[in-house]
Order: sequence, then C-alpha cells, then structure tokens
Amino acid sequence: MKTYVLATANPDKAREIEAILAGLDIALVPRPLEVPEVIEDGETLEDNALLKARALCEATGMAAIADDTGLFVDALDGAPGVYSARYAGEEATYADNCAKMLRELTGVALESRTARFRTVAAVAYPDGSWFVVDGEVEGVIAESARGSHGFGYDPIFLPEGQRGRAMAELSPDEKHALSHRGNAFRALADALAER
Ligand code: IMP
Repeated sequence: MKTYVLATANPDKAREIEAILAGLDIALVPRPLEVPEVIEDGETLEDNALLKARALCEATGMAAIADDTGLFVDALDGAPGVYSARYAGEEATYADNCAKMLRELTGVALESRTARFRTVAAVAYPDGSWFVVDGEVEGVIAESARGSHGFGYDPIFLPEGQRGRAMAELSPDEKHALSHRGNAFRALADALAER
C-alpha cells in the first residue's frame, strides 16, 4: 500500500478528500504540524499546487498531495483567480471577499455574471516525478449572499443546474457531488488507481 501525505491543514478539506479517495488502496497521512506553511507565490493554480506538493514531499520524504483553488469571473476578466484568498486584501475575511465581489459587479446583469471555480490537485513523488489534474464547476455570481453552509465564496456562487440555489444553500454532500474540488479529487482518484 502506498502512503501519501496531504498538504492541506484545513480539516474540512482533508475530510472531503479522504472520503473521495477512500476506495483506493492507499494510506493518507495528515500534514505534520512541524512542516512550515509554503508561500503560495505562483502565477497559476498549477504552480501553487505543485509548490505545496513538492515542499511537503521534500520535508517528509513521502509522496504528497496538494490542491489550489480559484474563482474566475468572466465580467472581471478572470479575477480573482489565483488571488481568490486575498481578493479584498492580505487579511481579508471570506465576508470581505464576497462583499468586494458584489460591489465590483454592481449593475452587471445576471446573465453576464458567469464564473467558474477551478481546483488543481498535484501529486509530487520523492523521485522528482509529479502530475496534476483539475476539476471545475460553472455558475453565476448572485446579486446578494445567501445560505450558511460551506465557506469562501459559497454564499454568492449559484452553481449551474441548481435552480438558483447558492452553493452555501447545498448540503455538504450535494456540494461535493458537483464541486470543483470534488471533480478534481475524483479525477485524482482515477489517476492514482491507474498507478
Ligand atoms: P484554496 O486554494 O483552497 O485555499 O482556495 C483559495 C480561496 O478560494 C479560498 O480562500 C476561498 O476564498 C476560495 N475557495 C476555495 N474553495 C472554495 C469553495 O469550495 N467554495 C467557496 N470558495 C472557495
């Protein structure tokens, strides 16, 4: 059985990833507390996911799995994209980021508020090899926030096919079944199963 160390320190994300990879013949270990945070200064989601996977692989000597996510809004030329966590500033809260997004899109009609979440998952191996997979979900940015589940931009993202419900109005299982991260880690499960 192969062992992989998970780069995320977020317990909600780790649980979701563990559930998706549960059927595989692999062991997942959490990120060791003593491994320092990686500075995510890449220009793309791929760059940042690989930076994190490689740093963790080097620090532990184990194969490592990392992910990076961004929200890409067409009316904002793809912003905030790779800068989604810091959209309203270095210390921005999720609420600050959502409020800034709603401000920036004031006056933009619903049909022009198209957007997508994209997650890249990267695996780095001690022999220097690596690969990435990705997952997306299409939707539109709502005109106001609603719902209390999830995190980040979930209260203002209306995923396609959900009859106007915000991501934050879906149960965790409903979200994982259609989400960018769910799709990326299902692709990762397929790729790892073939190795
Ligand atoms: P990360 O790369 O997973 O840390 O994501 C970067 C930023 O994207 C987070 O700080 C959130 O603002 C946003 N984000 C990531 N995943 C989600 C999600 O599933 N729903 C809403 N926002 C998300």
